[in-house]
Amino acid sequence: MKETEYKDLEKIKDVKEYCNYLFKAKSIKKHLKRVGINSSEKLVGYIEDPNQFLKIPPTNSSFYENDLENLITTDFSNISTVLSSSGTTGKKKLIPISEIDLTFFKESSVKCESRLNTNSEHHSGLIANMGMGLMWYAMMTQKFEMKAKPYFFGILNPLEYIELIKTLPVNALISLPIFFSRFYEFCTNINKNEILKKKIKRIDCGGDFLSDGRKNRIERNWEANTNRFYGISEVWGPISGECKYHKGLHISSNHILFEILHPLTLRPVNEGEIGILHLTALWDKAVPLFRYDTQDLVKLLSDTCPCNEKTKRFKFVSKKDSIIYHNDEYSKFFSLIDIEDIIFNNNNTTTEYRIILKEDELIIHLENLIQNNSQNSEIEEKILQKLEPFNKKCQIISHKPRTISRKTQKVKIDSIVREPLK
Ligand SMILES: [Zn+2]
Repeated sequence: MKETEYKDLEKIKDVKEYCNYLFKAKSIKKHLKRVGINSSEKLVGYIEDPNQFLKIPPTNSSFYENDLENLITTDFSNISTVLSSSGTTGKKKLIPISEIDLTFFKESSVKCESRLNTNSEHHSGLIANMGMGLMWYAMMTQKFEMKAKPYFFGILNPLEYIELIKTLPVNALISLPIFFSRFYEFCTNINKNEILKKKIKRIDCGGDFLSDGRKNRIERNWEANTNRFYGISEVWGPISGECKYHKGLHISSNHILFEILHPLTLRPVNEGEIGILHLTALWDKAVPLFRYDTQDLVKLLSDTCPCNEKTKRFKFVSKKDSIIYHNDEYSKFFSLIDIEDIIFNNNNTTTEYRIILKEDELIIHLENLIQNNSQNSEIEEKILQKLEPFNKKCQIISHKPRTISRKTQKVKIDSIVREPLK
């Protein structure tokens, strides 16, 4: 993304008013004062000139933790709802949403769903914990906007999901990626997968990363189209999504500035380079989102998508906290997604794995369907190839199926001894 592409900042209706609005949030005001921007009048020059804008230090998720009072810019009479979310950090956050926020969120949701031709024939079962209030509210709303029929299943016993899918006219499911791998495994063990495969034609994944390896396995198992959406709790629903060609995530919001910045220099990266996604809401959002560091490493794609849509696209590469080893220049790194790809591309593995990260060694626990002497040599070879630039060793420990705990709800590294990320 070149600096000249900061023209999205011109979408701010009234820069002076926008700066006044940002100064209403005590946390943002404090943040700006720290770098010498001590009045909203002074901020105007920073918003009008991209070179100045780039000098403002990004904000991050710590702004949103237990700090609602210092972030909210309006009184509660203008708030439509307050939703809870665990967000990217796993810490609970409360996100207040105003009427105008909802309008913009619905607009980007509709764009995402229209690409996939969602219509009134689409009946989807939504599997999410009530504690993930933001996720279920966003997903229900985005389906309602398309006149589709969402059914909120909540968290049940897998046998109850099977009964619900059989009883209701469900032809799609929405949940975290890890659910679809586990649920298929469960259904296979009790010989119910064929009945469900006939009904489920589409799978929507959100709320966690989805590696290509896991995606391919989900599609092969369920024989259903699997779609990725991208959003963050601080913005509510999806702000980008795949089209039917699955060639990256199309940016779907007209009201958010997407910056892809080099992790060390915080300068915009060139097309094809990997950087960290930063987001700025260009309207007076109830809680400001201003140069927000998503901690997500993405790659800006420059080729034209076969769907011919002209919107910018990016590929999700890794979460910053899922990077296992990286070199000083940050141009090369090895992440959790790389491991998942390798494990899921091997047919002798189940859906579960655990990783212990040590300074000079990676220990991977996985389950093998068939046990033999050289069962994991191919996986080990591929991981060692990836680890070569970092001079690290790898040890794979094989387990029998269903002996690694299924308790973890999200894909994560068990314990981490990490080189400090700058
Ligand atoms: Zn496309």
